[in-house]
Amino acid sequence: MSDTLQRFLFDKAPVRGASVQLDATWQAVLERHDYPQPVRDLLGEMMVSAVLLTSTLKMKGRMSLQLQGDGPVKLVLVECTDGHALRGMARCDDDVPSELPALIGNGRMVITLEPEQSKERYQSIVNLHGQSLAEALGDYLVRSEQLDTRLWLSADSRNAAGLLIQKLPSEWHEDELELWERVFHLSATIKREEMLRLPHQEIIHRLYHEEDVRVFEQEPICFRCSCSRERVANMLRTLGYAEVQDILLEQGDIRVACEFCNQKYAFDRVDAEQLFTSEIPPDSPGSTRH
Ligand SMILES: [Zn+2]
Repeated sequence: MSDTLQRFLFDKAPVRGASVQLDATWQAVLERHDYPQPVRDLLGEMMVSAVLLTSTLKMKGRMSLQLQGDGPVKLVLVECTDGHALRGMARCDDDVPSELPALIGNGRMVITLEPEQSKERYQSIVNLHGQSLAEALGDYLVRSEQLDTRLWLSADSRNAAGLLIQKLPSEWHEDELELWERVFHLSATIKREEMLRLPHQEIIHRLYHEEDVRVFEQEPICFRCSCSRERVANMLRTLGYAEVQDILLEQGDIRVACEFCNQKYAFDRVDAEQLFTSEIPPDSPGSTRH
């Protein structure tokens, strides 16, 4: 299996599809964290969702999916760029139930779009009323884009994968609507094992071999974390000198681990002093140099 996004289109109706499979990208997340199985699978499904959702947008920039809950899972955060660089993390208790509603309690999903060319962020909130992730995201796309969209998602310790079909804006004719219905029913027959283990071409062939499907070139997906020592330094600057001194007094030095990639950053007393004496004035929190 490879880490790829496969887009496809149906010739006889304005219906598009996308299939996503994660392998090394998913392993890169799992080797850095030991999440309980239900949380692991939820995180995998969210990573796949992020790629599927970005595949439906023309935007250049970054999309994040943030699941917030008051159950044993407090936070699952996934980020995906238009170039399909992915990272993800979860915060949860050690002991968790297996069903999604019990896992996240009163949960909601915050979807944020950060276009490259603008300072604006666009945020939508999806309440998860006991629905599956796939159902909730499908509903969100219907509401926000007015495009009927269905998703299927799956993850285990080896792979994470998903499938999306979407009705494109058009004058829909009777026979095209019939094709959409057919494609939906065919897609719904996908089995978890097939989605997780079969190559895209085989999935598409198994599901839609009686339809005319145009398949595009596969697009690579990778794990990439955007953390850096400079970003951690900026975060410490925003805490302020006094707070940083308090941490030093308490702990001797400052150790920060990135929650996405587990990279460790350490600042001793001298480093910490320099944070506030370097050319970036301490009164400009969050400023970044390029
Ligand atoms: Zn990182």
